[in-house]
Amino acid sequence: MRSLLLLFALSASAQQIAPVPDKFFFEEGKIRVLILTGRNNHDWRVTTPYLRSVLELTGKFDVRVTEEVSGVSAETLRPYDVLISNYCGPRWGPQAEKAVEEFVREGKGLVVVHAGSYPFGETAVLSEKMGRTGVYQEPWASWGNMVGAIWSDKDPRTGHAQRHAYEVKWQDPQHPIAAGVKSFTISDELYHNFRLKPGIHILASAFDSPKIGGNGKEEPLLWTKPYGKGRVFHTALGHDLDAMMSPGFTATYARGVEWAAKDAVTLPAVIDTNPKNSDAVRVLLVTGGHDHELSLYAAFDKFRDMRVNVDPHPHAFANDLRKAYDVIVLYDSIQVDQLPEKHRTNIQNFVESGKGLIVLHHAIIDFASWEWWWKEVVGGKYVLRAEPGFPASSYQHDVEFVATPKAGHPITKGLPQMRLFDETYKNVWHRPDVQVLLTGEHPTSDLELGWVSPYQKSRVVYLQPGHGRPSHEMPWFRQLVRRSILWSAGRL
Ligand SMILES: [Zn+2]
Ligand SMILES: [Zn+2]
Repeated sequence: MRSLLLLFALSASAQQIAPVPDKFFFEEGKIRVLILTGRNNHDWRVTTPYLRSVLELTGKFDVRVTEEVSGVSAETLRPYDVLISNYCGPRWGPQAEKAVEEFVREGKGLVVVHAGSYPFGETAVLSEKMGRTGVYQEPWASWGNMVGAIWSDKDPRTGHAQRHAYEVKWQDPQHPIAAGVKSFTISDELYHNFRLKPGIHILASAFDSPKIGGNGKEEPLLWTKPYGKGRVFHTALGHDLDAMMSPGFTATYARGVEWAAKDAVTLPAVIDTNPKNSDAVRVLLVTGGHDHELSLYAAFDKFRDMRVNVDPHPHAFANDLRKAYDVIVLYDSIQVDQLPEKHRTNIQNFVESGKGLIVLHHAIIDFASWEWWWKEVVGGKYVLRAEPGFPASSYQHDVEFVATPKAGHPITKGLPQMRLFDETYKNVWHRPDVQVLLTGEHPTSDLELGWVSPYQKSRVVYLQPGHGRPSHEMPWFRQLVRRSILWSAGRL
């Protein structure tokens, strides 16, 4: 049997392997980017995800990363439009170096970030965490010719003075990468004494102040360079995440990548790293009266279709909320005697005006003696003390259970059954005519884990999960909350 299998495997490998077109694996119409990294004396593990996400957030790039550049070949580079070097380490070896050099020479793009200009020259190889290997390798001249500069240990030595905040000034404000971007301030290293190569086109520079050990010259920092039929954009900026997150770096980097790939720039002068749709749902998240983990807030942060402000009660209800917000999410614990009459009126006006309301997790405890609230609006309540017909509710922390979304509602559409680790409630009273969204079976839990209230004047959703980090961080939970918000705002 074993020899038969071996024979089969051998005959299969001998056959021609059919190529599969790249279009199946890349997003249509996007610029294909490969970031070269994995060795750097700088913190590439932290900066590479940022370099990637900035491009992805613009919606114009499909970005991949390789952390083993020595393994790339002409074949692995073939699908890409532009390479970004966030690499400062040993040489890549003949196959990868030939592939990268040909990639650029044959008409594609290269972007070199900060210490990406350092390697492959006459200086010693650097190692992790600003270390030095003391090893000198044979220089790879083509890299310096692509980048447009090399480093030198000879006087005047290439390097930088103390990291500080300085202004980057445009030398060619009309260049597509620069056009519309104002001169900017950045806290970064200011590289000086590059050995520049002929043919670079300087876009921006900064004054290397002798007061902090600079050379007193205007130093070129951003430039372009043609190489063969290809285009290179070099930025000396980007020592760490603080430097990269400055708007000046972010804009010039992203625009530089687009330019190197396409010889044109369509990106705006300011790159929004937490973009929101212009019609994003305006959400007021109300906290207070119950401690909770910080992870709650991240659950709301990254969606383009909602813009969330947090305000604890009672201040949250101090003003008329109808103009400023589309949806209120309650994640608080409050009783009616803690609220001034005017605040109660503001809540009531909001709910009666056709806006959205999400009652999340422990907020089912709110306003237990405000019958209109729990009976008409929410459609349920956590019973603090037993009364006739209302057995006391109970809770249990740290329960592992399975939640099952009910079909037939836009909020739960397509959401799979999920294992949760959360707090359960038992004997939460609810109206018989709520539309159940979610069920869960556990001895410490009610069957109903969420519902849509029958309240008619606005859309009201109750969701029971959400006590702590294990749920807050789940994409499933975040989608459940997001969809509830969108639906209650009339957007689903
Ligand atoms: Zn640095
Ligand atoms: Zn809880």
